[in-house]
Amino acid sequence: MKNPNTHTELVAKLHRINQLESVIGLVSWDEQVNLPEGSAERRADQMVLLAELHHRESTDVALESLLDSLESEGGAELSFDEKVVVREARRDFDRVAKLPAEFVARKAALDSQAYHAWEIAREKSDYAEYAPYLRRQLDMAREEAGYHGHTESAAYDFHIDTHDPGMSAAAIEPLFAELRAGLVPLVREIVNSPIKADPSPLIGLSVEGQRTFLKEVTERIGFDYSRGRIDVSAHPFCSGDAADTRMTTRFVESAPLEALFSSIHETGHGLYEQGQPVEHLGTGLGTAVGMAIHESQSRLWENQVARGRPFWRFFEPRFREIFGLGPDRISSDQLFLAANEVKLHPIRVESDEVTYNLHIILRFELEKRLFDGTLEVSDLPDAWNALSLELLGLTPKNDAEGVLQDVHWSGGAFGYFPSYCLGNMIAAQLWNTIKVELPDLEREFEKGDFSRILSWLREKIHHQGQRYDTMALVRRVTGDAITPAPLLRYLRERYLPLYQARPGSMPK
Ligand code: ZN
Repeated sequence: MKNPNTHTELVAKLHRINQLESVIGLVSWDEQVNLPEGSAERRADQMVLLAELHHRESTDVALESLLDSLESEGGAELSFDEKVVVREARRDFDRVAKLPAEFVARKAALDSQAYHAWEIAREKSDYAEYAPYLRRQLDMAREEAGYHGHTESAAYDFHIDTHDPGMSAAAIEPLFAELRAGLVPLVREIVNSPIKADPSPLIGLSVEGQRTFLKEVTERIGFDYSRGRIDVSAHPFCSGDAADTRMTTRFVESAPLEALFSSIHETGHGLYEQGQPVEHLGTGLGTAVGMAIHESQSRLWENQVARGRPFWRFFEPRFREIFGLGPDRISSDQLFLAANEVKLHPIRVESDEVTYNLHIILRFELEKRLFDGTLEVSDLPDAWNALSLELLGLTPKNDAEGVLQDVHWSGGAFGYFPSYCLGNMIAAQLWNTIKVELPDLEREFEKGDFSRILSWLREKIHHQGQRYDTMALVRRVTGDAITPAPLLRYLRERYLPLYQARPGSMPK
């Protein structure tokens, strides 16, 4: 017989854990935005204490017995939404509770040592110094999958599923293969074009002006600054939740549009968070599905919307006004091309949306081989460089520019990279559907009205919480499984007209 209080009690416990998580989020936001150098040690102690409290709350036996009793009813008396809450709470509980305390402590120690070793190795571009730590992280990743009942051969899938529920290497493989086949020749065609974007007339735009402009843009597309803010940090990110969303950006003199586009990207993440119902925070009804869907939201706003003509038709006059930029300094066509610059770069985070996906395909290939044992950690730099040449047509100058560029593996974050590329595919697929379901949308963009697309995303994606996993949600919204075809078509349609030289069409 169903006890009506059991579910209510579960939700109360989840809210409590969520409150604690939001405090941890706030403290680590502060660490990256405000913390005075000399206060780092005290902050580390505070973080350890918070992590302990969080671990205690989220592995509480009372929480487990609530889950047990709700599950023992077989879910017969639970509504669809209640089942979602129970399922996701169980998933979160198991992720933590199935790990022995000794493993958690060993992992935390390794994370901190490996991060430190990675920083030094990257500085000196000395892979050999870092390799032993990477080897240990891989062993621990296999060990962790084991505690969750996964055999060694399924360890990589376990980690992929952690970031994107329901996804696996076998599901990703054919998608990336098809994307790669279409993308490699497209990238060659664009980077070999005599037409080059030239953002140099924009170098030196005042930081104050950039701050004003990006605030106006992000507010206009729908970010609610009454329950969120944007600050500056070394690496842009978005944290917090629907009740209090914290974004950051950075100003880079040599890349004058970076602060703008990175802010719009983080706003896409922020809008997804702000779209979660506050009353359901901490439960499956008020939590994002996973990384790929999250990334689809940031990419859709950053790329499909903000790199498009209609967006610039509306914002260009204000952009010129703020910076006093006349058409003699940069024409409209040049400005638009600068916003859509494509150029090969060895570093993933410096790459544009066309070449970016090849960086991810490279990492996926190598992770897969590291996990299935066909690639030794000691051979990783050679494999990286060979694949970089094959995919991007470039060889990194050194390991700092190659295999050592990303922080992820040093923290044992395997299976995370594919989310970025899946997010790009999903963004293009959503864009396809949006254009069919909301005709004339781009005419509204030209008038600075982004409300209809935001309402659509709210209803179809944001408000769904974790009711559906990554693939199921995409299928529900677009009528199709995840496929690279819309992304390839979108990239061709946007970039080929810009970079295909026609007589008389060269930007001056
Ligand atoms: Zn992102």
